[in-house]
Amino acid sequence: MTPPLLVRCPTCHKTGPWLEGRYAPFCSKRCKLVDLGRWLGEEYRISEPLTVEKLAAAAAEESPAGTDAGTAPRPSDEEPI
Ligand SMILES: [Zn+2]
Repeated sequence: MTPPLLVRCPTCHKTGPWLEGRYAPFCSKRCKLVDLGRWLGEEYRISEPLTVEKLAAAAAEESPAGTDAGTAPRPSDEEPI
């Protein structure tokens, strides 16, 4: 048996076996979201404000495996002329 590897949470700098957890290398979900929001903000603050589309695009880059193009709801609230 080997002791768990202790790492430092990039957000709050607390030391612990974070690599064992589901939010590795962060100590908690909160710290992971804080870090994600931080680099998203830095990335997009340069040229244009952060939009829902930008967040969606960033999320798509994060997990390219999940494509729901086939299951996207069609716009159905258009009034027929
Ligand atoms: Zn943390």
